[in-house]
Amino acid sequence: MYDYLIVGSGLYGATFAWFATKAGKKCLVIEKRPHLGGNVYCEEVAGIQVHRYGPHIFHTDDEDVWRFVTQFVPFNRYTNSPLANYKGEMYNLPFNMNTFRQIWGVTTPMEAIAKLDEQRREIRELLAREGVDTPRNLEEQGLSLVGRDLFEKLIKEYTEKQWGRPCRDLPAFIIRRLPVRFTYDNNYFNDRFQGIPVGGYNRLVEGLLAGVECRCGVDFLHSEYRDWRRFAKKLVYTGPLDAFFNHCYGELEWRTLRFETRVLDVPNYQGNAVINYTSHDVSYTRVIEHKHFELFGNAVYGNPRTVVTEEYPVPFLEGMEPFYPVNDGRNDALCRKYKALADAEKDVVFGGRLAEYKYYDMAPVIKNVMDYWKADGEV
Ligand code: UDP
Repeated sequence: MYDYLIVGSGLYGATFAWFATKAGKKCLVIEKRPHLGGNVYCEEVAGIQVHRYGPHIFHTDDEDVWRFVTQFVPFNRYTNSPLANYKGEMYNLPFNMNTFRQIWGVTTPMEAIAKLDEQRREIRELLAREGVDTPRNLEEQGLSLVGRDLFEKLIKEYTEKQWGRPCRDLPAFIIRRLPVRFTYDNNYFNDRFQGIPVGGYNRLVEGLLAGVECRCGVDFLHSEYRDWRRFAKKLVYTGPLDAFFNHCYGELEWRTLRFETRVLDVPNYQGNAVINYTSHDVSYTRVIEHKHFELFGNAVYGNPRTVVTEEYPVPFLEGMEPFYPVNDGRNDALCRKYKALADAEKDVVFGGRLAEYKYYDMAPVIKNVMDYWKADGEV
């Protein structure tokens, strides 16, 4: 008999197992995939850590979270500074003085502010005419953030590829996280702490799950564990929310990605970890060159080969890995109905991206588990 049966060994499940074990609880972690770690799982290819389910860059402003993760493995100094390729033109991201210089030729913050103000006029006037103060969808948000020129080259088509629908039909919050700044600073994040575990994320997961009983290749929903009360006092479920309730209200929608990964006999293919392809002309959204997450400067040339991955966004179909919740009106309403069922489940914790149907970064997932154990008074 276990105190906790934990379904899923991603960051939510693994962190939960760590806190529970520390509190003297007996846990069993079951995992559908043949490996632990959920979507942060890394695989070594040609001596390079490949983020098998898409690139994961750890960033947080929370000192407690940073201290927590760095006790298991040192983190390197990787700073995410993606580039955007629009029909062969290259722009720095996030939106900063470099981007403004590249698109408008302006070189001082005052010039950039004036130009941006002029670019934003169109949407400001439209919203004023319609008596609205906050952008109602991603298109209005994008135009309010950076104006027409940058919206069309760097946001519109990328977003439509990524989400498979017009920007007008998407919620504004998706791009609220993109910084706009008037300094020459290409750091994608504003957080104080950022990096990637040295040796890959598996080392973090191994630390979190050290001494915890784990079974891989066990699909909770189609196993004896479905009747979980026979095995444990409490259940922690990190799988898809609708699947737990047998999709009784219908399916929640997801976007997912198809990855095409190649090993190339060149030491440095694109000179950066992440290059976004923001035009419709190319059907992938990003090209990742994994070695740049862990090797910097001339150290890149220490390995004569490289691994690159193209990411193709696709709609989720049965049997695929769900990645991104599609938080539009229909799905949010459906999610609320499932959440009401979840709230009524006694002794079950629903946590993480899939079970909360939420577009989460890694750090807030860990923070949620930390808060759970603080609130529960069990730590
Ligand atoms: N985005 C964009 N152009 C870019 C990068 C991002 O329009 O070059 C928008 C897009 O709508 C995307 C959102 O910003 O879905 C969040 O992107 P981010 O790279 O932060 O998220 P990730 O896909 O890595 O979770």
